[in-house]
Amino acid sequence: MSIIEKDKEYIASTYARFPVVLEKGNGSLVYDKNGKEYIDLSSGIAVNTFGVADKEWQNAVTEQLGKIQHASNLYYTEPCVNLAGILCQRTGMKKVFFSNSGAEANECAIKAARRYAEDKKGNEYNKIITLKNSFHGRTITTLAATGQEVFHNDFLPLTDGFLYCEANNCEQLENLVKNNKVCGIMFEFVQGEGGVLPLQKEFVNKIFCLAKEMDILTIADEVQTGNGRTGELYCFMNYGVKPDIVSTAKGLGNGLPLGATLLGEKVKDVFGFGSHGSTFGGNPIACAGAVSVINRIDQELLNGVKEKSDYIMNTLKNAKGVKSVTGMGLMIGIETEKNANDVINYCMENGVLVIKAKTKVRLLPALNIPFDLLKKAVEVIKKGCEI
Ligand SMILES: *Cc1c(COP(=O)(O)O)cnc(C)c1O
Repeated sequence: MSIIEKDKEYIASTYARFPVVLEKGNGSLVYDKNGKEYIDLSSGIAVNTFGVADKEWQNAVTEQLGKIQHASNLYYTEPCVNLAGILCQRTGMKKVFFSNSGAEANECAIKAARRYAEDKKGNEYNKIITLKNSFHGRTITTLAATGQEVFHNDFLPLTDGFLYCEANNCEQLENLVKNNKVCGIMFEFVQGEGGVLPLQKEFVNKIFCLAKEMDILTIADEVQTGNGRTGELYCFMNYGVKPDIVSTAKGLGNGLPLGATLLGEKVKDVFGFGSHGSTFGGNPIACAGAVSVINRIDQELLNGVKEKSDYIMNTLKNAKGVKSVTGMGLMIGIETEKNANDVINYCMENGVLVIKAKTKVRLLPALNIPFDLLKKAVEVIKKGCEI
């Protein structure tokens, strides 16, 4: 049986995969089973921050692999403590809870918000406002948080207590906040799965104003926007605001499963002994790799992210067959005149891997993609968009 046939036989049919078996790579170049080379602008969905088989990350991981691969959270280990310290120092957040995925990081954020409200206002203040067209994960609770009915229908009943607000609708947000017993407002600064749509600054300011006025927690889902992706270490830095809770995952682990929920001053001590936990959370290997990732996201790298972003936007926004280009940093959505699938397939045939967000072509290159590879790839995309 071929790999593709075997996958169809034995793996749950949840993914419509591209007909490519990826075998290995080096930075932003990846190779399939037949030896065909691709420039990878998908990065495993914003996960491979420094591309594939990155040497520095590999060294950090393999060094830890030779010491201890897992200890459980019954004992102290150095890599997760170091990572938490670095994350707090770089963000101004106060404490970190580690998990293994974006959905889990969001579950922790939701629990923290409810726990905070229970202490301060009573447990009837359990409502969390999220945005329509958002994406927060696949567990029953994070699906409930996800403001898209298509994800809900087959799995009812979902967790109670979520209210949905149209993104960028300040009036609706104010009504929801004032007419319900709300403990948190949860949002992506740039809706990734929803079509790479940045929130308007005015709306973000409204979220933070209302939250301050009503003592409601702001919960930023930075699972995709975090870790340098949008040109700052975390996207909240682009907006000049400070969330009470920040969840992140994807690019933090550079490919190893790792989620983190960063807790600000108000919520740093909401969890007591035994109130939350994760067997794998804070795994020393994943954390050792993540320390090397975060330490490399410095001003020079971030400037490069912004430069590359400008290059992509400026090259594509007036290109033939392109209706619009949205996004921030190296998180970019292209609305094309052609069906996005046709553009994606053209790119794949011509050695460039890009993915989809809703009806758009989505680019999420590694943050350190060399300019010459990026230029080559953008030329292919440009051709693919032409009618
Ligand atoms: C990918 C993503 C998630 C879910 O992360 P998993 O690791 O798949 O659980 C949650 N929120 C956002 C914004 C994401 O992009």
